[in-house]
Amino acid sequence: MVRQAEIPAISAGELPGMEAPRLGEPYLLTPGPLTTAYGVKEKMLRDWGSWDGDFRAMTAALREGILALAGDSRGEFDCVPMQGSGTFSVEAMLGTFLAPDSKTLVLSNGAYGTRISQTLKRIGRAHVTLDKGDYLPPRGSEVAEILKADPAISHVVVVHCETSSGILNPIEEISEATHAAGRKLLIDTMSAFGALPLDMDSIRCEAFVSSANKCIEGVPGFGFVVARKSELEQAKGNCHSLSLDLHDQWVNMEKSGQWRYTPPTHVVAAFIEALRLHRLEGGVAGRGARYSRNRDVMVAGMRALGFETLLTDRWLSPIIVTFFNPADPAFEFGRFYDLMKQSGFIIYPGKLTVAESFRIGCIGRMDEHVMSDVVRAAAAALETMGVRNANPPQSALREREKLLDMPPVALAANE
Ligand SMILES: *Cc1c(COP(=O)(O)O)cnc(C)c1O
Repeated sequence: MVRQAEIPAISAGELPGMEAPRLGEPYLLTPGPLTTAYGVKEKMLRDWGSWDGDFRAMTAALREGILALAGDSRGEFDCVPMQGSGTFSVEAMLGTFLAPDSKTLVLSNGAYGTRISQTLKRIGRAHVTLDKGDYLPPRGSEVAEILKADPAISHVVVVHCETSSGILNPIEEISEATHAAGRKLLIDTMSAFGALPLDMDSIRCEAFVSSANKCIEGVPGFGFVVARKSELEQAKGNCHSLSLDLHDQWVNMEKSGQWRYTPPTHVVAAFIEALRLHRLEGGVAGRGARYSRNRDVMVAGMRALGFETLLTDRWLSPIIVTFFNPADPAFEFGRFYDLMKQSGFIIYPGKLTVAESFRIGCIGRMDEHVMSDVVRAAAAALETMGVRNANPPQSALREREKLLDMPPVALAANE
């Protein structure tokens, strides 16, 4: 057994803040919380008064910094941060923008889509769910058909990168179909914002939501909703919850520059530094490019060991990748996890109902050299376990063929 203190220091990259975690600290190959730069953590060593001008300036910088990433050249959007984990902000977005008499189409293909339906049920908002199962993408043509058949549907909600399988959902065609039918779109882009383009000038939506501890590489503690100001203005009195009311949070922030209730001051300070590092890296394009290299190096290395991805390349996101467990009876996920951890890498269990699987995240403060080390650690773990071949069972591969059978994009709205 390798003790924590003996974990070798892993390759440092050239980007500022890309140094390896402190000795004994593992890399988090998980979709948030994730590995953050030392400088980001360091910013939390100071206390801030939430009412003080210095902190109000930080809140303003945070809102502007996020808006700058949203490509809103017409200035139609505003950013409203909300205390809590990402789910709190998702619930705030749904409760605030879906009026009590609205009806929503939820596009679901994984745990986060399911959570949206659950939330709407809990807060009493009418909805129908297009459930595509564990990982098949909802298509624009399907959305167009459903909206045509049910004029009562006012809104569509979609998850951008469904983090439970890692699939990158086709939000462009979904946004086109929704807009063509004259309905409104809300996007959960929690795990993609900051690394994948979500340009408000080209993707038509009313609001989207993300959080501090995903691709911006901050620490957990708040989320944020970017919404059309016209929607925020109309949303007064919609929300089922006092603390999650984005309209009230927005009005108060515009008036006083302050959060309504105690803000996560240290988390905000860390986030400002995370935004600075994001800009230094070349913004969304730079960050997305690093994550894509992380994915490419890791997936190629894992495939060379015999592992197979759940998704075909067309649907693989640079955020997180799902692998089938090997069929070899010597493979046991708990053991594999422990061995990977001993090598300095925390991986993530799978969330599929169709097959045994595990996940490896590509996001966080690490580069492709680290990903090569991940592959080497996986190879060593297989050897220790006595797994000769990491090929998945045939049944898992047959499952994947469903993706290849998917019809090409045919947007009914464009015919
Ligand atoms: C991380 C994530 C959330 C929010 O999860 P929390 O655990 O509440 O932070 C919501 N949607 C998606 C797609 C996510 O990846």
